[in-house]
Amino acid sequence: MSLYVKKFGGTSVGTIERIEHVADLVKASRDQGDDVVVVVSAMSGETNRLIDLAKQVMPKPTPRELDVLMSTGEQVTIALLAMALEKRGCPARSYTGGQVAVQTDETHNKARIKNVGRERIDSDLAAGRVVVVAGFQGVDAAGNITTLGRGGSDTSAVALAAALKADECQIFTDVDGIYTTDPRIEPRARRLDRITFEEMLELASLGAKVLQIRSVEFAGKYNVPLRVLSSFQENAGTLITYEEPEMEDAVISGIAFNRDEAQIRVAGAPDQPGIARRIIGAVSDANIEVDMILQNVASDGGTANFTFTVHRNDYQQALELVRGITEEIGAERVDGDESIVKISLVGVGMRSHAGIATRMFEALGNEGINIHMISTSEIKISVVVDEKYLELGVRALHAAFGLDAPPKAVGELN
Ligand code: ASP
Ligand code: MG
Repeated sequence: MSLYVKKFGGTSVGTIERIEHVADLVKASRDQGDDVVVVVSAMSGETNRLIDLAKQVMPKPTPRELDVLMSTGEQVTIALLAMALEKRGCPARSYTGGQVAVQTDETHNKARIKNVGRERIDSDLAAGRVVVVAGFQGVDAAGNITTLGRGGSDTSAVALAAALKADECQIFTDVDGIYTTDPRIEPRARRLDRITFEEMLELASLGAKVLQIRSVEFAGKYNVPLRVLSSFQENAGTLITYEEPEMEDAVISGIAFNRDEAQIRVAGAPDQPGIARRIIGAVSDANIEVDMILQNVASDGGTANFTFTVHRNDYQQALELVRGITEEIGAERVDGDESIVKISLVGVGMRSHAGIATRMFEALGNEGINIHMISTSEIKISVVVDEKYLELGVRALHAAFGLDAPPKAVGELN
């Protein structure tokens, strides 16, 4: 007998019909002899509706009261789902986060889970019941209701799965898994059967729409096998686990990209100790996150060029800050570019395969795509290119690394 934590997101419980469908899925799993703990989100749109109500009362709602309000969304769904299960002759009990002892810190609106009690769940499971838990919420040490940040039900599910030592945490959503890249950019993107926690974290730009990235970190930390699958389509989805020997076959798992980048260049800065600190410090002291950094020294020595990337929202502010210190440090020029993107090749197989970077640069070069910046880590190579090359670049790499799905047979086309 296996124990599964099954989490259903907002779209999966968005209407009564869909809640009935979730009840069918849960009952089918029970009928196979599994123990099931269900975690649900609020019905789609509900959390936004509640936030909007709060803002009509006060533009910046008191965080504590916002949590009291937002947590009601999930409380509606747990009750409805438990009823739908009972109606099917499947004994069930619903609980709020606090009732099943999801203990968090005191940070309202983005609390972190500290501990999950299992007594109540264990006794319900032992009595043959399905346990339905409200995601996204817990209580702090003083018993105040807290919530975990938008999309937090995924993290609730993983935390419960870790505490219960579940065989798998299954995240049911409206897509059927994690793809090699965004299918809207490359229609030949394929669903991955398996992927490692590490790769999933690097592919965050693809996965973030599918599940809260914090839940992946959590699952990796507690080694909870995490499966992303569709509540509307029947297939095995994508399993996220630790690396296993058989996984070595695929060198590259996927191609992520980020449209939110901007780059800033400082040309002709003196090539002296402390200059990097001055330039990057000016930006990071303002709490602006710097992503890639590149420095090169002119062949005649003496001066250095500095290029770095920031989030596009921070671009203007970062540019101003750097302009402010150009004169101080005696640099020649500062300029920047807001129309760049980052494309990343991700795969644990890179560790054991040489020549991946060469193949990547060749594929981009063949398409006439100029690379502005490069950065590498053990399982990722990222390049910065002009925004207009995003689609072309992603597709070229997708093909070059053999990620394209095989062409569909005529009968399958629709
Ligand atoms: N209902 C919450 C939200 O919309 C939590 C979740 O869906 O995971 O952010
Ligand atoms: Mg979600």
